[in-house]
Amino acid sequence: MTERIAIIGGGASGLAAAVAAAQAGAAVTVIEHRDRVGKKLLMTGNGKCNLTNMNDVHGKYYSSNADALSQIYRTLERFNASDTRAFFQGLGLYTREKRDGGVYPMGEQASTVLDVLRSACLHRGVCILTDCDVHKIRQTESGGRISYSRRIYEQPASQNGKGRPTPVREEKAGLTYDKLILAAGSQAAPATGSDGSGYALARQLGHSIVPVLPALVQLRCAGGYFKSIAGVRAQAAITLYVDGTKAGAEVGELQLTDYGISGIPVFQISRIAAAARYRKQACTVHIDFLAQLEGEPSLDGQGHKRVEELLSGMTHKKLAALICRRLGIGVQETVAQAGAERVLACIDALRHFEVDVSEPNSFENAQVCSGGVPLLEVSEDFASLKCPGVYLVGELLDCDGICGGYNLQWAWATGVLAGRAAAGRPWRNQ
Ligand SMILES: Cc1cc2nc3c(=O)[nH]c(=O)nc-3n(C[C@H](O)[C@H](O)[C@H](O)COP(=O)(O)OP(=O)(O)OC[C@H]3O[C@@H](n4cnc5c(N)ncnc54)[C@H](O)[C@@H]3O)c2cc1C
Repeated sequence: MTERIAIIGGGASGLAAAVAAAQAGAAVTVIEHRDRVGKKLLMTGNGKCNLTNMNDVHGKYYSSNADALSQIYRTLERFNASDTRAFFQGLGLYTREKRDGGVYPMGEQASTVLDVLRSACLHRGVCILTDCDVHKIRQTESGGRISYSRRIYEQPASQNGKGRPTPVREEKAGLTYDKLILAAGSQAAPATGSDGSGYALARQLGHSIVPVLPALVQLRCAGGYFKSIAGVRAQAAITLYVDGTKAGAEVGELQLTDYGISGIPVFQISRIAAAARYRKQACTVHIDFLAQLEGEPSLDGQGHKRVEELLSGMTHKKLAALICRRLGIGVQETVAQAGAERVLACIDALRHFEVDVSEPNSFENAQVCSGGVPLLEVSEDFASLKCPGVYLVGELLDCDGICGGYNLQWAWATGVLAGRAAAGRPWRNQ
C-alpha cells in the first residue's frame, strides 16, 4: 500500500525528506506556510550554499544533552557527506570540494540546490502546498489529519513583484496522512519562514523543548568604544572564558561592529557564549590582534614615529587609535616621548584585548539555533518516541553544528533517513 506522507515545512530537511520518500514510492504532500519553499536555502553560504563538509564530523556538533552526541555521529555515519553528494548528483547537481572540506554546487549558486530539489519533487509527483497555516494536527493510532487554512491571492505573492500582497481570502482544508514528518526548522532567520512555530507543533504532539537560543550569531558586548572601531576586519585569535574558565578558542577574521564582535570565529563560539549568558554566567572574549605577527615587534630605530603610526604597522589604524586613547598616549606623541614601557604596554593591549559579552545578537541575525526537541525523544530513524507515526527532522531537533556545511548536512541526513523510514524503506535496509 502506498504510504501517504505529510511533511510540515519545505526547507532543507523537509524537501530532502520529500524527495527521499517519493523516490521510495510514497505519496508526499509538503505543507509550507510561506509563499514558496526553500527561502533559507537561497541565503546559505552567502548565496553559494555550503551544502556539506568532507571533514571528520566529530567535534563539529553540539546538543544540550551530551549523551545525544553519539546519536548525532551515528546518523552522520549512516548518511555522510559523500551520501549527500551522491544524493544531489542523483538529482543532477554536481558538487565541488574546497580546500577546507566545504562542498558547494559546481555553479556556486544556492538557487541550483533548491532548483534540483523542487524539480525532483515535481518529477516524483510531490504536492507542494504553500501559504498554508496549520491549525491542528489530530493524530490517531494509524495516521492522522492536519487542519490548515490556505491563503488565496489574486496573483501568487512571488509573481506580482510588489512583495507580499494581501490575501483575498482563506480556504480551510484538511489533509489525511499515514505518516507525518515535522520539518519546520528553528527560530533562526524567521523572515525565511522558520519562525519557531514548529516547536509549538512538536509540543502539541507530546514533545518537550530544550530552551532555544540563537547560535552562529554575532555577540553584543559592553563598552561605549565599539562605534569607533566599527567596520574593522582583523585576523585574530579569540578565546572565550565563561566564569573565568576557558570555554572555546578560534582563529580567523574577526569583524568589529558598532555593538560588538562578529565574523566566523565569533560565530563558532557564539552558541557557548549564548548558553552561558542564558545561565547568567560571566562571558569574556580575549582577543589577540597580533596573533599572526611573525616575531616580536621591535622598537629599534622607531623612536621618531608617532606611537599610533607604529601600532598601525601591526594592526588596523582604528584599533591603533583606540589603544592609544585608552592608554593616554597623545595623537602626536612619538615612541621616544612615550618611552618603551608605555609603548610596549600598547602592544600588550593589542595582544590582550578583552571584551565582555552582554548577549548574543537576535534570532533575526542567527544562522541556526541551539535547543529544540531532545534527540532522546526520537529513534535512530527520527521517528517520534512520543507519538507513533510522526517523524521530526532538521534544526527543529536539539542539534546544531559549527559553520562549514555541517548544519545542512544534518538537515539532509535527518530528512533522507526519516523520509525513507516513513515510506517503509529505511535507508540502506531495503
Ligand atoms: C544566512 C544563513 C546562511 C546559512 N548558511 C549555511 C551554509 O552555508 N551551510 C550550512 O550547512 N548551513 C547554513 N545555514 C543553516 C541552514 O540553512 C539550516 O541549518 C537549515 O536550513 C535547516 O534546515 P531545516 O529544514 O531544519 O529548516 P529550514 O530550512 O529553516 O526550513 C523550515 C521550513 O519550514 C517552514 N515552516 C516553519 N514553520 C512552519 C509551520 N508552522 N507550517 C508550515 N511551514 C513551516 C519554513 O517556512 C521553512 O520553509 C545558514 C543559515 C542562514 C540563516
